[in-house]
Amino acid sequence: MIPKETADYLRHAFKKGKVVCLTGAGISVESGIPAFRGKGGLWERYDPQVYANSQGLTATLKMRPQDLGKFIIDFYSVILKARPNPAHLALSEMEKKGILSGIITQNIDNLHGQAGNRNVVELHGNAFRIRCMSCKKLMTLEKDRLQEMIESLKGIRHSRIKLLKALSRYFPRCNCGSRYRIDVVLFGEMLPQKELALAYKHLDNCETLLIIGSSLVVYPVATLPLYAKEKGAKLIEINNEKSALSDLCDYRIRGKVSEVLPEILKTVDV
Ligand code: NAD
Ligand code: ZN
Repeated sequence: MIPKETADYLRHAFKKGKVVCLTGAGISVESGIPAFRGKGGLWERYDPQVYANSQGLTATLKMRPQDLGKFIIDFYSVILKARPNPAHLALSEMEKKGILSGIITQNIDNLHGQAGNRNVVELHGNAFRIRCMSCKKLMTLEKDRLQEMIESLKGIRHSRIKLLKALSRYFPRCNCGSRYRIDVVLFGEMLPQKELALAYKHLDNCETLLIIGSSLVVYPVATLPLYAKEKGAKLIEINNEKSALSDLCDYRIRGKVSEVLPEILKTVDV
């Protein structure tokens, strides 16, 4: 499936050891999480301008608490069921072998972490983490806690007070007095500056950037391949379709991530 010329380049690149990945929603589709623009996804049923936007979420809580409860149940049910697929596992194996410098991801599903990768820059946050809105302290929400939250929300119908009471157990007050919220980047919000700086650091040191399962239309992440290219890195796209920046890539591998990544691992494994 990988063209010979691309395989030859990859063998050479991985030997040099300056390979970085940029992953998008496409890497998690075969884990059961539909892509942002994918069929059957959450965002076909819920308008992202409302449900991925902090003012939209606050307004929904006020006017239609039952819809907000349903959204939270749907959102976490999908994420909690997902498991790393062979693409995530291949990247984890590459990190263990010391041939992958790091992963920069737009995903919030924690599947790279679950697969065993440690060197992951999460540009859009992580749905299993909460953050104090004032002092920015972070806390992990374990899977069983989230499962428990889903069950408790299922019993609530139209009461905003009951919904708030249930949610406040999982998004509690911080010692500083402020409240915790989900640690993901919503529409219109800035990317975490520390993570962005780390992403640039990876790109400054990379000679090959694998762009895996991203349509490259979400900004500012879509500018990262341009930055890497300007710094002299080669861009390799792994996607079953054309992306917004396909023409800029030096090599393109068309196929399913769950097949392509294990094949790359086999090809470059020395
Ligand atoms: P996107 O949904 O815009 O694009 C996904 C890309 O992956 C497409 O180009 C598609 O052709 C490709 N693709 C889908 N399935 C594939 C497969 N099995 N093999 C190979 N390629 C495949 O994704 P994006 O560019 O990451 O932008 C989506 C935004 O929404 C991001 O900001 C992200 O934070 C968020 N999001 C995250 C998740 C997640 O955490 N898993 C899921 C949906 C959306
Ligand atoms: Zn605080």
